[in-house]
Amino acid sequence: MSQILDGKVVGAAVRAELTETIATHYSRWGTVPGLAVILVGEDAASAIYVASKEKSCREVGIRSHTVRLPQTASTADVVAAVNQANQDPRVHGILVQMPLPPQVNETQVLAALDPEKDVDGLTTYSQGILAQGMPGLYPCTPQGVLRLLDYYALPIRGRRALVLGRSALVGRPLGLLLLGRDATVTWGHSHTKNLPELVSEAEILVAAIGRPHLIQGDWIRPDAVVVDVGINRHGKKVVGDVDFQVAQTRASWITPVPGGVGLMTVAMLLENTWQAFRNQTGLR
Ligand code: NAP
Repeated sequence: MSQILDGKVVGAAVRAELTETIATHYSRWGTVPGLAVILVGEDAASAIYVASKEKSCREVGIRSHTVRLPQTASTADVVAAVNQANQDPRVHGILVQMPLPPQVNETQVLAALDPEKDVDGLTTYSQGILAQGMPGLYPCTPQGVLRLLDYYALPIRGRRALVLGRSALVGRPLGLLLLGRDATVTWGHSHTKNLPELVSEAEILVAAIGRPHLIQGDWIRPDAVVVDVGINRHGKKVVGDVDFQVAQTRASWITPVPGGVGLMTVAMLLENTWQAFRNQTGLR
């Protein structure tokens, strides 16, 4: 039976440390990091995510505020909001909540974002930094996955890692981070053939696809480490991309859904905001 990679435990540890660090900084210097969240439209799921990010910020001592724009906002409106946050010295991190309404050009919005404040790691600059293996602000979910593996001291170097998914938000940066840690990385995507065979070879398997239980438990290599990034509505339940019930009988370690990677993503957003604050205020 697998051991659990517990996002609740690790996320809480990250937050506790950050809370203390920010409080100590405030008591010495009287300043705190600030996060601006730009929310466009009335997407219900986005509103829930943003509310939870605001709450998490408050809990660790980050000042956050949400800029709300109507569903009808144009690209220029969103770019103007980004520019305003770029120039606000109290704002150290900016997050544009995705998805944007269809009339808003995401590429133009991200191009306007000051890379120093890009706490989601989505600008071309941030993605380039990551591709070159240079330090910077990396996307939160991939960082959260690595933090989970590190917390449980699971080795990465030399391991065969299979990353399923190649989005700019998750799969692509995750594979690059694993490569940076000397894993032998394979990416799978919607055109990949022989998925079961590839999965059966992976020592570290990360699924970031968005299809409920696409990865069958009996494909998994015995003793593999399985990280399920997927968040899928399945009837009334939320399930991952991996069939957890069978997978947990084969894997050595596995993330639950919910309770795994999702909680790490928010923790890494808070950490990135602290990191951006340090960079902008010249703190070591
Ligand atoms: P996305 O942009 O839709 O990307 C999905 C990826 O899966 C694409 O690269 C796609 O390949 C690939 N794919 C689709 N069908 C496949 C198949 N049959 N076999 C192998 N690969 C396949 O999604 P995303 O934003 O990366 O998110 C992926 C999942 O993670 C979603 O469930 C999302 O809700 C979840 N998520 C969770 C967190 C968290 O904090 N836990 C954060 C972000 C996202 P192509 O490139 O060929 O289309």
